[in-house]
Amino acid sequence: MADSDCLFCKIVKGDVQATVVRESDRTLAFRDINPQAPTHALVITKDHWPTVAELATGDPDLLGELHREAAAVAADEGLSGHRLVINTGSSAGQTVWHVHVHVLGGRGMSWPPG
Ligand code: AMP
Ligand code: ZN
Repeated sequence: MADSDCLFCKIVKGDVQATVVRESDRTLAFRDINPQAPTHALVITKDHWPTVAELATGDPDLLGELHREAAAVAADEGLSGHRLVINTGSSAGQTVWHVHVHVLGGRGMSWPPG
């Protein structure tokens, strides 16, 4: 189900352009427009789920597929290690209300992130 006001639903439909790096039946991966690392891709569900918490309850199999696809993006990019980030809620930095996994890699990643 799509939300007509949602940026990432528009990317799924092809109404907004993105650099797609991987696709499965129910997920799409594309490069972040404002990369924070040499590799910075977003993996999204094609269906509109506002947060990972709602997805985890509503379609746990799809949450698993999202993670499998994120790992596949990291492998496709040849990363020796990668970080997955899912911001949930505006206080945690979520700005797009359509679930997305950030796949980050290609540089040293400090921990804790701050
Ligand atoms: P978040 O802040 O966790 O909700 O992440 C949203 C991400 O979407 C940010 O890293 C943005 O740079 C990215 N973003 C916003 N618009 C686009 C777009 N049109 N194409 C690709 N990435 C985008
Ligand atoms: Zn959406």
